[in-house]
Amino acid sequence: MFDKDNLEALELLIDTYNDTDQDTLVLIGKYYLKLDKVIRTRIDKISEKEISLIISLEDKEIHKKIKFPKTVDGASAVSTFLYSYLSEARINAPKDYPKTRLEKLIENTLNLETYITNVKTKKIISSNIIEITFEGGLENLPDLKNDAFMYFMVHKEIDHKFPKNFTIQNFRSLSSQENNPYSAAYYTIKSYRENEIDVWFVLHDHPGPLAIWADQVKEGSSVAIWGPRTVFSPPKETNNYLFIADETAQPAVLSAIENLHKNHSYTCLFETQNKSSRFKINDPNNQISWIYRDQELAGEGTELIKCIERLNLNSKNLYVFGAGEAKQISSIRKILKRQFNLGTKQMSFTGYWRKLAN
Ligand SMILES: Cc1cc2nc3c(=O)[nH]c(=O)nc-3n(C[C@H](O)[C@H](O)[C@H](O)COP(=O)(O)OP(=O)(O)OC[C@H]3O[C@@H](n4cnc5c(N)ncnc54)[C@H](O)[C@@H]3O)c2cc1C
Repeated sequence: MFDKDNLEALELLIDTYNDTDQDTLVLIGKYYLKLDKVIRTRIDKISEKEISLIISLEDKEIHKKIKFPKTVDGASAVSTFLYSYLSEARINAPKDYPKTRLEKLIENTLNLETYITNVKTKKIISSNIIEITFEGGLENLPDLKNDAFMYFMVHKEIDHKFPKNFTIQNFRSLSSQENNPYSAAYYTIKSYRENEIDVWFVLHDHPGPLAIWADQVKEGSSVAIWGPRTVFSPPKETNNYLFIADETAQPAVLSAIENLHKNHSYTCLFETQNKSSRFKINDPNNQISWIYRDQELAGEGTELIKCIERLNLNSKNLYVFGAGEAKQISSIRKILKRQFNLGTKQMSFTGYWRKLAN
């Protein structure tokens, strides 16, 4: 049986494939399962042993199961197998069959670089956010704007000097070893300048290696970062935006609203702990609503969901970007999808972190 955390991660994986990666599932149906006339493929359920699909053909609906080569223990193992079915489907597909969204994403990651950069300054933004400015080694870092995020790799010795030729491959080769001194997590580029970036680190309860590193690191220390990538991709006709973010995703939203067209409107729902964790921000038209968790813990706030249930939205030309704790974001996504009949291209929801039972 999957544990609770893995069940939630699998639920999110199924929703994402069914809503966003339909083209990949159809490709798997056509060229991995070798079925003719596949119009739509949906993941029905996933167990430790197999994945159950419902496949719409031109004239009927059929059920198919793909058995995993070995028992899986969670969402990341399932993803690995899905990628392998996708690559086998690609081998069997005609040469001119269009690349799927997921294939394009994977292709993009192959060309990403690792950069070694140094802490320049640290600044307090609120009671639970600190800004770290990194400088140097970033001459070739592209400015993707919006929610551009990087994979931050840190060493348990805070003063560790990364060798100049250290890359994500070195990190990956060590990751299965016991006593691996490196840890990593994704963080957003809040602001980009030449050879310099600002990143906002949330300091949270039960801090993991990255929050500890950010809290303790001093000027001059180095970090390895790999990326950047983005998921923010509103359809061309978008002229109205809804942003939903806890502290971890507020840098992405602040960066995205800087680039919006002047005539476009937006609303931000920013969840934070309380008044002391709210930061100062120029918001002359009151487009940012702050929602406090107060006594509730991060990832368990109920006010944000209530606020979303009360929303009165015109979904025409609307794009919704939401990120925060995975389970919370998954509930929000379901509510918005149900209430406002949003098309899949009008939404981008990402679990930025996962609440674990500590
Ligand atoms: C695309 C992307 C962009 C992101 N951008 C940012 C960013 O700009 N700033 C930022 O701070 N984070 C950001 N995150 C989230 C960040 O990667 C996670 O919070 C990460 O888990 C932190 O690692 P850690 O080592 O501190 O904690 P972990 O070792 O991962 O977790 C340790 C414990 O802390 C809990 N935990 C983790 N994060 C939080 C949190 N935020 N609040 C409360 N409890 C938490 C976990 O449930 C666990 O119990 C982003 C994530 C993604 C996927």
